[in-house]
Amino acid sequence: MLIDSYDRVVDYIRISVTERCNFRCQYCMPEKPFSWVPKENLLTFEELFLFVKVAIDEGIKKIRITGGEPLLREDLDVFIKMIYDYKNDIDLAMTTNAYLLKGAAKKLKDAGLKRINVSIDTLKPEVAQAIAQKDVLKNVLEGVDEAIKVGLKVKANMVPMKSLNAPEIIDVLEYCKERKIVVRFIEYMENRYASKEIARVPTAELLEILASKYEFSLEGYDGSSPSRYYRLSDGYRFGVIEPYGDDFCKQCNRIRLTAEGHLIPCLYFDEAMSIQKAIRAGDVASAAEVLREVVKNKPEKNRWGGDDGEVSSRAFYETGG
Ligand code: SAM
Repeated sequence: MLIDSYDRVVDYIRISVTERCNFRCQYCMPEKPFSWVPKENLLTFEELFLFVKVAIDEGIKKIRITGGEPLLREDLDVFIKMIYDYKNDIDLAMTTNAYLLKGAAKKLKDAGLKRINVSIDTLKPEVAQAIAQKDVLKNVLEGVDEAIKVGLKVKANMVPMKSLNAPEIIDVLEYCKERKIVVRFIEYMENRYASKEIARVPTAELLEILASKYEFSLEGYDGSSPSRYYRLSDGYRFGVIEPYGDDFCKQCNRIRLTAEGHLIPCLYFDEAMSIQKAIRAGDVASAAEVLREVVKNKPEKNRWGGDDGEVSSRAFYETGG
């Protein structure tokens, strides 16, 4: 079992299989980075799988594939099947923008993927174009429908932003409610790569908007998820992730792996250790040691909401949000 210095059990890893993305979302990667990680530095699926086996043997029980946009990586279903065949009770999930999901959903489900989280920031084509800087909405919504059809469990993520999609908070909730999808509203987390114009909708404001139409009550956290859940009077449940006001770090159970093999203990901070050398040498004992070291070094808390004006310099597209 992996336990950090604050007695938190770490049993969840998020694996970013590529930093590349086919969207240029204002809150994440509004401009193409100066350079991408050179191809030879990216771990192959065989290499990633070697590390996944180490991680599972050390106590990881949940794996989320993310990016950048994970569906840009060819043969993702083959990687998923490798993991599923190694341990089929792993909670195997993926976060995607859904642009390429329509053609991929069935293959992924058949390979062993259980759940997906999809970014649904808007239901208006022109707003989607403004956020992602591309005409994306039709593909995204068709992808969501297909995922539901093939039996993947779907959750939605919305990052509400003033002067962009904030007027659609209720519409997105209702779209999800109709499809029995849980929506989680993620407070925009400031970072150095995002557009400077982005302004977050503070959670108090978000809840006020929802309260203008619905009655709901707070249920609280569900396990180690950073999301606090609320229930409408008709039973529908939605979540809110509030990095600026909340202390979800207390129950944080996750670490992150980038496509080039950096193992990251916290989304906020730059600190990381590489497993690339060990994995490329087939030295699983050293890879396990790095993993244990990273878990031991997991910081107690992120610094969103700190009062010193510090801004996170970690790129979400590298770490997978
Ligand atoms: N491309 C995939 C997607 O769109 O879901 C996976 C990667 S994306 C970095 C993962 C999640 O991070 C998305 O739900 C996205 O909304 C969230 N995210 C990215 N930048 C964010 C920010 N600055 N604040 C809050 N959430 C952010």
